[in-house]
Amino acid sequence: MQITCLPVSISSNTPRISTPVLSLPSYPRHIFNLASFQNRKHGFFSISSKRLQKSQTSFSKSVLAAMKSEQGTESDDAFYMRKCVELAKRAIGCTSPNPMVGCVIVKDGKIVGEGFHPKAGQPHAEVFALRDAGDLAENATAYVSLEPCNHYGRTPPCTEALIKAKVKRVVVGMVDPNPIVYSSGISRLIDAGIDVTVGVEEDLCKKMNEGFIHRMLTGKPFLALRYSISFNGCFLDKIGEGALDTGGYYSKLLQEYDAIILSSSFSDKLSSISSQEANVSNQPIQIIVVSNAQQSPIFASSNTVEESAPKVLLFTKKEYVTESGISNVETVVWEKMNLDSILDYCYHRGLCSVLLDLRGNIKDLEVLLRDGFEQKLLQKIMVEVLPEWCAKDERLVGSMNWLESKAVKDLQPKQLGGSVLLEGYL
Ligand SMILES: [Zn+2]
Repeated sequence: MQITCLPVSISSNTPRISTPVLSLPSYPRHIFNLASFQNRKHGFFSISSKRLQKSQTSFSKSVLAAMKSEQGTESDDAFYMRKCVELAKRAIGCTSPNPMVGCVIVKDGKIVGEGFHPKAGQPHAEVFALRDAGDLAENATAYVSLEPCNHYGRTPPCTEALIKAKVKRVVVGMVDPNPIVYSSGISRLIDAGIDVTVGVEEDLCKKMNEGFIHRMLTGKPFLALRYSISFNGCFLDKIGEGALDTGGYYSKLLQEYDAIILSSSFSDKLSSISSQEANVSNQPIQIIVVSNAQQSPIFASSNTVEESAPKVLLFTKKEYVTESGISNVETVVWEKMNLDSILDYCYHRGLCSVLLDLRGNIKDLEVLLRDGFEQKLLQKIMVEVLPEWCAKDERLVGSMNWLESKAVKDLQPKQLGGSVLLEGYL
């Protein structure tokens, strides 16, 4: 039997790798219209994240429309903003609960300073970039993927650092949805006489921090679902070749997400769930939910005794006594358990993103999966289509007759060696 696959177009959000730009036209002035921003202020936070996305996009378009009259500038701004995103992503998996942020300082068409936020508690991207630029920051343009902060937290406000460095213009990728920043950074810069442009490569900046944004706007972590299926649509308890290796999509997902929910049948194989990427400072917290009171998860001691082993969060209906010598297992005993309360718990732990992974005995996860759909807690779905034909599907998630038809938006395919990954948003 011959199986024919339709050609799949591959798209990429990776910023283009830049060659040094030696000379660019001098920047015309684009003064950010504060009035139009303030008019949108109230609608901004009272709407859902998806509507916010729409609202912010249209808001940015008004700024971008003004920029379009100045030939060359829009593409130059976009070019440097993509560089910011590229820098920010060097700290992927390290900044939570903070967002990833990158910053470049550009003068006379040259990048004279660059930086990114490496970790919560450490200085912000703007501080590193200004430090790198030194005196060259004066009269330069600062590009930053997220609105500069304007409050004293663990570090002083970046707005003051930019003002002190006498930058002439600041280009912001997206407004910070954090209520303690929320437009005040932009206002402060404008008040100090700095030209500000907002919304350059906004979608790229948002996508990079979708977990952070969702957490800020909804008070819950961003929840994504992942599973593998055969070419003929059966659930498979496997992932594609190379997916767990360095650079593989699964290894990268483990780097990106703060926590992963797994079937309790995986409790003795947890050590196999770790990102192989080079700069992982924290492996995702592994969440095991034991909904059946009779069921006792068995942890392989080798998984949990090591200092570097990922933390395990065990949600159970009865007290569970861990074997002596096993550390890193935190037990939460709840009589009534549901996905919403688990996500609330994760939120209070400072987690921005959680991955629900249908591996092992996926019937274990049916209740959570159902909650995810019915309570609209699920934001994103990633499906790996493996290059094999499955004769019999023994891993049905219940009858699934509770599932209503759903539209999936922004569907994107990615080619992964022999398999294909599809991702889309609910
Ligand atoms: Zn800051």
